[in-house]
Amino acid sequence: MTTSAATGTGLRFAIIGAGMAGILAAIKLEEAGLTNFAVYEKADRVGGTWRENTYPGLTCDVPSHMYCYSFALNPEWSHMYPPGEEIQEYFESVAQRYGVTPHIRFGDEVVRCQFSSGRWQLATAAGHRDEADVVIAATGVLHHPKYPDIEGLESFGAAMFHSARWDHDVALDGRRVGIIGTGSTAVQIVAAIAERVSTLVLFQRTPQWIVPAVNPTFTAEEKAAFREDHELIEQLRAKASHLFDAFSDAVVDSGSPTMKMIEEACRSNLENNVHDPALRERLRPDYRAGCKRLVVSGDFYQAIQRPNAELITQAIEHIEPRGVHTADGRLHELDVLVLATGFKVDAFVRPMSVVGRDGKDLEQEWAQRPEAYLSISVPGYPNFFMVNGPNGPVGNFSLVEVAELQVGYIMQLVDRIRSGDCREISATPSALAEFERARVETAEKTVWATGCRSWYLDDRGIPAVWPWPFERFRVQMASPAWEAYELRKA
Ligand code: NAP
Repeated sequence: MTTSAATGTGLRFAIIGAGMAGILAAIKLEEAGLTNFAVYEKADRVGGTWRENTYPGLTCDVPSHMYCYSFALNPEWSHMYPPGEEIQEYFESVAQRYGVTPHIRFGDEVVRCQFSSGRWQLATAAGHRDEADVVIAATGVLHHPKYPDIEGLESFGAAMFHSARWDHDVALDGRRVGIIGTGSTAVQIVAAIAERVSTLVLFQRTPQWIVPAVNPTFTAEEKAAFREDHELIEQLRAKASHLFDAFSDAVVDSGSPTMKMIEEACRSNLENNVHDPALRERLRPDYRAGCKRLVVSGDFYQAIQRPNAELITQAIEHIEPRGVHTADGRLHELDVLVLATGFKVDAFVRPMSVVGRDGKDLEQEWAQRPEAYLSISVPGYPNFFMVNGPNGPVGNFSLVEVAELQVGYIMQLVDRIRSGDCREISATPSALAEFERARVETAEKTVWATGCRSWYLDDRGIPAVWPWPFERFRVQMASPAWEAYELRKA
């Protein structure tokens, strides 16, 4: 589509965020010869969620060979499911190798983007100003820690931190450690630290279904073979991708045989691996497997059955300097309290202020809930494109693959600007309205809407995620439906 007369190489781009998606966007701009860009990163390192989460046991439950860019395969993964530290190293090394690092402005947080006279005016907290034709917001999803609203939380007298703000100066060995939460994060922490602490107290508000998994290491021979022949990695990716597609088809069809198989696997995991019937019942969810984001673990049940571990299912009443008070009147005295209580998932680009055409303020636009056409574009915010924006495929997919598809799509939008077809491009209000209508209608039939509390649900209780099979996402990302966009010359 790019014409030689108007290569658009003068276009200025601003990428916000140097996590997995921001690094990817930078690589794709470079590849397209669009080298006039800056990547704004508020922290002092790349990596996003993998920089911020450093808790013990941190592992990605997406297979390692799927959790990497398709163009930068990694023969060196140590395990089938990669440890967080290795993923962080991977993104750092890719950013270096592909020449992204020199474009990154570390410690420079964008606080405002305003569309004015056809360009985005950016302001950072440090007082820097930039002007860009196109903004790519790669600000992440599970990003802003959610602190529980529990009376007396601040009065706790010993060490306390959120799982995504792990304080490595706090010793765990031989100490009394409490964990609030039973999501993917808490389950990994419990399994990793149970052996080291004197007492582990897990405060469970809602039990979770757990899919069993083993995490074998790759041998030196296997890694050598991967180095030698990338086709072997491609084969592993294809196999994993096939399984993920089957899974993604199942969760959007709550009566499907695959969903039944997954439910059965979770049920037998609980039946076969938790020996005390009373504990088993306290760990048994009363909602369908897959309704909440599935937790994957091969060692949680073992850990919670250790003599030094205790599962507390009484509600937390309040927290006091010595520990946590539960509804049965017990005080659980603790030396360390970990808040594995999840994230504010509807923030997306916020708290950054985004002001679009005619002074439209995204904060007001999203006052009820965030929406974007195909999770990428918001009407009235021209040339402002999000990666992993609202209502996209999260939770059950490799977000790397999702981001690659989205960035490929965004590059096609950019091509229209670059070729001189238009100066400004954003989804039409009717395209967004129709997308949301169909999305909500379908989301109500998914397993996520079968009756549980989860971070997938919006303020109406409707799953705020991509509710169709993943293949449909691939097809829609392959080429934009241009009638969904308003293309303006100026
Ligand atoms: P989460 O799934 O949102 O779980 C938060 C936990 O905290 C829930 O058990 C919740 O209970 C509990 N909680 C929240 N507020 C509470 C309160 N006031 N009192 C008592 N309990 C409270 O958060 P997460 O475990 O950090 O995981 C978030 C997502 O990150 C995952 O679903 C997954 O997508 C991703 N993740 C992925 C991996 C991976 O391996 N790829 C690893 C970790 C996380 P309720 O269930 O009752 O609400």
